[in-house]
Amino acid sequence: MEQPLEIVILGGGTAGWMAAAGLVSLLPPSRCRIRLVESDEIGVVGVGEATLPHIKNFNDSIGVDEAEMMRATNATFKLGIDFVDWGFKGSRYIHPFGVYGSAQSGLGFHQQWLRSTAAGRTWDLEEFSFACMAARANRFDFPATGKPTINSTYSYAYHFDASLYAKHLRRLSEPRGVVRTEGKVRDVEQDPETADIRALVMESGERIAGHFFIDCSGFRSLLLAGKLGAQWEDWSQWLPCDRALPVPTERCGDLTPYTRVAAMQAGWRWRIPLQHRTGNGYVFSSQFIDEDKAREELLQSLDEPTLAEPRLLKFQTGRRVKSWQRNCVALGLSSGFLEPLESTSIYLIQIAIMHLLPLLPGKRHDPRLADEFNLRMDLEYERIRDFLILHYHLNGRDDSELWRYCREMEVPESLERKMRLFRHSGIVQQYKDGLFTPPSWLAVYLGQGLVPEHYNPLVDAMPAERLLAELDELHADIRDRVDEMPKHGSLVARYASAETASEQLLHEAEMRL
Ligand SMILES: Cc1cc2nc3c(=O)[nH]c(=O)nc-3n(C[C@H](O)[C@H](O)[C@H](O)COP(=O)(O)OP(=O)(O)OC[C@H]3O[C@@H](n4cnc5c(N)ncnc54)[C@H](O)[C@@H]3O)c2cc1C
Repeated sequence: MEQPLEIVILGGGTAGWMAAAGLVSLLPPSRCRIRLVESDEIGVVGVGEATLPHIKNFNDSIGVDEAEMMRATNATFKLGIDFVDWGFKGSRYIHPFGVYGSAQSGLGFHQQWLRSTAAGRTWDLEEFSFACMAARANRFDFPATGKPTINSTYSYAYHFDASLYAKHLRRLSEPRGVVRTEGKVRDVEQDPETADIRALVMESGERIAGHFFIDCSGFRSLLLAGKLGAQWEDWSQWLPCDRALPVPTERCGDLTPYTRVAAMQAGWRWRIPLQHRTGNGYVFSSQFIDEDKAREELLQSLDEPTLAEPRLLKFQTGRRVKSWQRNCVALGLSSGFLEPLESTSIYLIQIAIMHLLPLLPGKRHDPRLADEFNLRMDLEYERIRDFLILHYHLNGRDDSELWRYCREMEVPESLERKMRLFRHSGIVQQYKDGLFTPPSWLAVYLGQGLVPEHYNPLVDAMPAERLLAELDELHADIRDRVDEMPKHGSLVARYASAETASEQLLHEAEMRL
């Protein structure tokens, strides 16, 4: 029988532990042996709190219990992102995790809505999104399953403490067979002929050999960039933000089931509600504002008292041209970075693991597998990149240099084409693979002021009175069903309270004494 593949993961941040948990849970035990190396002294990036609905599939597939995970990470639910001041100062829209209209409306619902506004109705498209309306009302419940109804038209994600999520995955992975080594990597050994990585050499002198290496060492990218010299593709001409100042504040008021991202003078600010605190931060461009000014602007804009000083993180937007080279693949920050505006980093880790699983090689490097992986990841990265650029480019703000620059900059042809099509006839380009489906594009197009010149004449097939009557009914149905939902804060407290969990742990510990 063939010996199992020895896989070595360097890094124990979100990327490292997601990879370890994914591989150990989804591959047959005879297929591989997994070791993970991490350094407590170096630590993890430790920010990253907002996720996308896909993470639920990942957790379900590897057997993570939802309520347990939420208690362990101080998590809350997320129905979308509230964009404040993006199209112009004073504007606001939600990018929801769900469709517009009823489950039966199909993708053309916005065409019906456009027709209704042409007929004089003044309602917002958002009023036809169940997820948006629930978010605005600070309400949350699980989507209905079974027969399609209006309250089955959305999905949800989490706000959580990503460092605690990594720890939670570690608790799950070690009993399943992942072997963890704590310590710093001092050197990396390569095969002198093929340049394949052969082993990590620890400061302790220990040598950790493997057939396949997963680089999750964060921005350092110790293996892929550091050792194999992977090239970097810089995207900062379109996404010029290169600094972040995260700062936690006290939890106050209602627990909102959405992330808020507000445009600022030289970037944007996030607000993410967790059970025990609120995460905030300013992502900005050092070309347009200096650090002291950014810190001042951030502190002035916070809703709640701070719990720590803001700390500066530097980054560049872009990605490794090939995130799999030789016998090494990079995941997470070591493969690229796209700012957290649409909470895409953890998704990119997850999708990379899912692409990697069927492509995992044998003991010899096979370039065909690497090429296929790199092609799939190109698509993921580029589609997210275009979607992020759209948020910056579609703006009517005239209050600062950054916004003027982004409005006037030339955008990638792939994005220009999508915008032209929507402006002309309200058609949202669809693609089979990659993140962000038409409702997401629609939210940003309309939310930031790109309105189609015409609605599609196909919707004229229905008499106007009937269309308006149906929309009236749907509008009322959404409002009534949302009113029946529990408040988000009370559902979180009932379902996954971290406080109850720690009280229980304390109680159990006392009982053992
Ligand atoms: C400001 C900001 C906000 C973010 N917000 C979000 C968000 O809301 N949602 C989202 O999805 N993502 C977000 N992200 C991204 C998210 O934080 C990261 O994608 C995620 O944490 C993955 O990090 P990582 O595991 O790749 O790297 P890291 O967390 O940096 O982990 C690197 C690991 O490598 C180890 N290591 C490095 N060098 C060595 C060595 N020599 N020897 C041994 N071990 C070593 C370290 O000890 C550590 O364990 C955000 C990122 C930033 C910068």
